[in-house]
Amino acid sequence: MPKQFDLAVIGAGPGGYIAAIRAAQLGMTVACIDAWSTSEGKPAPGGTCTNVGCIPSKALLQSSEHYEHAKLHFGEHGIEVKGVNLKLDKLVGRKDTVVQQNNDGILYLFKKNKVTFFHGTGAFSGQVDGGWSLKVSGASEEEIIAKHVVVATGSSPRQLPGLEFDEETVLSNDGALRLPEVPKKLGVIGGGVIGLELGSVWRRLGAEVTVLEAMPEFLAVADQQVAKEALKAFTKQGLKIQTGVKINDVKAGSKGVTLKYADSAGADQKLEVEKLIVSIGRVPNVQGLNAEAVGLKLDERGFIAVDDDCRTNLPNVWAVGDVVRGPMLAHKAEEEGVAVAERISGQHGHVNFDTIPSVIYTSPEIAWVGKNEQQLKKEGVAYKSGSFPFMANGRARALGDTTGFVKILADAKTDEVLGVHIIGPTASELIAEAVTIMEFRGAAEDIARICHAHPTLSEAVKEAALAVDKRTLNF
Ligand SMILES: Cc1cc2nc3c(=O)[nH]c(=O)nc-3n(C[C@H](O)[C@H](O)[C@H](O)COP(=O)(O)OP(=O)(O)OC[C@H]3O[C@@H](n4cnc5c(N)ncnc54)[C@H](O)[C@@H]3O)c2cc1C
Repeated sequence: MPKQFDLAVIGAGPGGYIAAIRAAQLGMTVACIDAWSTSEGKPAPGGTCTNVGCIPSKALLQSSEHYEHAKLHFGEHGIEVKGVNLKLDKLVGRKDTVVQQNNDGILYLFKKNKVTFFHGTGAFSGQVDGGWSLKVSGASEEEIIAKHVVVATGSSPRQLPGLEFDEETVLSNDGALRLPEVPKKLGVIGGGVIGLELGSVWRRLGAEVTVLEAMPEFLAVADQQVAKEALKAFTKQGLKIQTGVKINDVKAGSKGVTLKYADSAGADQKLEVEKLIVSIGRVPNVQGLNAEAVGLKLDERGFIAVDDDCRTNLPNVWAVGDVVRGPMLAHKAEEEGVAVAERISGQHGHVNFDTIPSVIYTSPEIAWVGKNEQQLKKEGVAYKSGSFPFMANGRARALGDTTGFVKILADAKTDEVLGVHIIGPTASELIAEAVTIMEFRGAAEDIARICHAHPTLSEAVKEAALAVDKRTLNF
């Protein structure tokens, strides 16, 4: 007799494990199936985010930033450090420990919340009395039945056509997070979030890094004033960034990779690197689900087709996270996971897609929420803008990190905040205030009138809000 559940979640990334835990907290019997394994074959729940994404990349960014500070910036604080040495195996080992702590944390939460975890691949067998029958293929095979199913199978790195990832020379995010040595020369195809973060890690550790981006503009998704400031900062740090390139040929061999491409002026160029990171986007994981056989509909881009509430075309089958439309972000997946669990239990789960923040954890950090200037202009929205540089912020000067600014865009008539764009120290944390204000549909004046502790970087947010109405306190 197959085990029966109110809900089965396929995938234990941030979309899946959060949905499973929330559903269990709401009183459902829940199964969560995940295929990810450690190198020893043990379960490693947490998905891309925990194993080869958000968490390990931030661990390496932190360690490499410490290394760069010790080498280049401690002197500014009057601290002399001699003989700064890099122990890459230890640095990468620390990252692995952080990942494992997160894997263990999720298994603990499953236990605590009575979520039954299955280590293996989950696939639809068909519709049966009482819901959906699912086959779990792991160390052994098992059939389970669930009234509701949430598909949260995530995404995988997109390959450059004809160039397979070998994770030795041609690297996806996976291989790029565990290089055994710092390459002398590293190429990165794709100047998006992942390419910039991983490129920054290896540049700080000593690699000469060239980033090749196909789009004519650098960071086209960001506010272009922010993108320009970022390009200036990254170039000063030594990242070689070329935009508007067209890759014509890539040959990978045992010694490295040779790239032939046309630069933005159309001139032929050649680049030889030891290692190449390909970060040109990600594709949804729909294979192996037996989706076709049960009639699960995909959209024209191969994602599972869902409505605004994450309902698929099949009864009681839902999908969340990277495998469906929308930004490929862990917190977006989590929000959808919670909302779906609440909807299944009869509540009114809600995700506000207009207030999902985006963050790039480079140095300086970049974060934004809402509309940027290009978008507002295109939409013909009348807006006003205020900005404030970290150069004029006392805490930033004390930190010794004054790059960047805060920029606030507000409706010209109502003063409602329409977008906030930050480049600078701890932008990833500062953006939370902007998200809160926008969630409550607050005005720039609301930020300006809220008491901000002194001296803090958050005063730059307040100053930018004051500048929207051409007022300034200038701490
Ligand atoms: C290098 C890198 C850095 C990133 N940094 C950030 C960041 O800082 N902030 C941020 O918000 N986002 C970041 N992301 C994106 C983030 O990782 C994803 O948006 C997030 O993991 C998506 O969550 P998910 O639950 O939809 O899918 P995933 O995390 O991909 O999890 C899906 C899980 O389902 C499993 N699975 C797939 N098919 C099956 C099956 N048939 N049966 C059983 N299990 C299956 C997979 O093995 C996996 O464990 C980063 C991504 C990368 C690659």
